[in-house]
Amino acid sequence: MYDQNNVFAKILRKEIPSKIIYEDKLLLFIYDAYPRSKIHILGLPKLEVLDFGDFILKADKEFVNHFFSKTYEVIESMGINKTGFKIIMNSGKDGGQEVPHFHIHILSGENLRIKKI
Ligand code: AMP
Repeated sequence: MYDQNNVFAKILRKEIPSKIIYEDKLLLFIYDAYPRSKIHILGLPKLEVLDFGDFILKADKEFVNHFFSKTYEVIESMGINKTGFKIIMNSGKDGGQEVPHFHIHILSGENLRIKKI
């Protein structure tokens, strides 16, 4: 069951501050508050979904397409499409997910070949 008091729900409601990179009516991209690489961005859909599976099953195809298209637009806007990046979607307990609101991590700015997050 979705917890409306998780930290990303509060960020989406603007109850706690975040460093916004891009926002529209469907999604929000922010800087991770505890970056694990020189560039560490989080993408959050404005939808009450727990994890990757919940997002794919509940969001319509247009929403899913918009989310991943915007993810690449943000990557291009930062210029890291040229240098490379890592995308991670931790999902569930074994996936190491801490915040129960689906999100995508975009990591870049250094060589991340062996780095775990
Ligand atoms: P995950 O482990 O995949 O659930 O990732 C949750 C991410 O949220 C971690 O990378 C945290 O550093 C990040 N995080 C936690 N609190 C905040 C916050 N207030 N603002 C931005 N990022 C946060």
